[in-house]
Amino acid sequence: MKYLYVGAIAGIGAGIEREAYREVRERVAAGFGAPVRELELPGVEFAYDAGRRQYGSIPVLEMLTRLCPADALKLLAVGGQDLFIPVLTFVFGHAQLGGRVAVISLARLRQEFYGLEPNREIFLERAHKEALHETGHTFGLVHCADRSCAMSLATNVRQIDLKHAAFCAACAAQLRRGLREQ
Ligand SMILES: [Zn+2]
Ligand SMILES: [Zn+2]
Repeated sequence: MKYLYVGAIAGIGAGIEREAYREVRERVAAGFGAPVRELELPGVEFAYDAGRRQYGSIPVLEMLTRLCPADALKLLAVGGQDLFIPVLTFVFGHAQLGGRVAVISLARLRQEFYGLEPNREIFLERAHKEALHETGHTFGLVHCADRSCAMSLATNVRQIDLKHAAFCAACAAQLRRGLREQ
């Protein structure tokens, strides 16, 4: 039996961030139809870039690869740290394409980040969509041209909000093949 592990990176907030982590765990379990296990992950201070005041997602993925349990189908980490890769200002998340590990950041999913009124439902929806997206990459799914598909590329929250928290028919079919091959 292989499990879909969903792990909280140390430092995740006790309030709404914890709630988002729990929601992601439950919704992702339903989305991929795999049994889910929880994992508490260590902090990622080693990935901190003082110049950018952000955390490198590549070293975080390397840590996840080391910590990925033997019985893990995939490991999705959820953190509050703002992530980046060197060529981009930031990333909402990062995954090993066709690999075992992925990470999502909650840092830029809140309305407050953009100077707007807090909205719990919007925040949780965005976290769910990004979790589906990054986990989808680990099953080999690439970016989809359908703007409503969870696998479409989002570089801002407006694009996340346009997506559905589901895969289009083509991506869903590819995902089913990916799940069978695991
Ligand atoms: Zn992507
Ligand atoms: Zn699609």
